[in-house]
Amino acid sequence: MPKTRTTHHAAVRVQEASGSNPDTPTKYEFQILGFSDHTPYFFENGYSSRIRMKCSQLPDYVSCLQALKKQYAKQIEIHIGLEAEYYPSNFQNTLEMIRDQEIEYLILGQHFISEETTGVYSGSPTTDESVLKLYCKQCLDALASSSFTYFAHPDLIHYIGSETIYRKHMRHLLREVKQMGIPVEINLLGFIEGRHYPGNSFLELVAEENCPAVLGIDAHMPEHLTNRVEEDRLRSIIAAYGITLLDHLDLIKP
Ligand SMILES: [Zn+2]
Repeated sequence: MPKTRTTHHAAVRVQEASGSNPDTPTKYEFQILGFSDHTPYFFENGYSSRIRMKCSQLPDYVSCLQALKKQYAKQIEIHIGLEAEYYPSNFQNTLEMIRDQEIEYLILGQHFISEETTGVYSGSPTTDESVLKLYCKQCLDALASSSFTYFAHPDLIHYIGSETIYRKHMRHLLREVKQMGIPVEINLLGFIEGRHYPGNSFLELVAEENCPAVLGIDAHMPEHLTNRVEEDRLRSIIAAYGITLLDHLDLIKP
């Protein structure tokens, strides 16, 4: 039975192939691989984002992946996605640009709160409850658009104030997301790099609320796709929390 691995930059189904030598690392074969680079975005006043391609580069991104799709059709199923934020003033314009291209799915990664041009980075440590609240609200507004296949690193928000307050807002967020039927991602890259996510409190809440969850590889380099040691470590932690990962994802066309 194939396992599913999903990433931020890939939604992946893999199949284990055991090696003949028990000392060699287990080899995995991907069956499905999804790419979801940071989406280009419309911004006012010539603002140029440092974390994303330009709007003019989107057709190239798509045609490059289409070529790979064709070239490797016999070996692997490739899907073309994007990771997008919800910035209210330009989300609609951006969505229309995305819809003009052959993009098969979007994942929500809310990297900035409010607007990228004026807001704060979601991962900056804060004790301000209003920042946490706004992050949760903005993510729910985003997901209510029915444009997203899953919710990448929901615990990117780095609230370091009271645990009770964190749990109150995050529990509400997770309940609403579950109600919408949208899976939450547990992020492998954050785990590998020792970032503040995936966080223990977040994993506890995902378990307590019984949220559908996927493991996101969030590969920023090819090596991330084959880091079985760290992935297996994270999988054991997830299992110890009592979280069952989904083995299938239905892609939602944006
Ligand atoms: Zn991200």
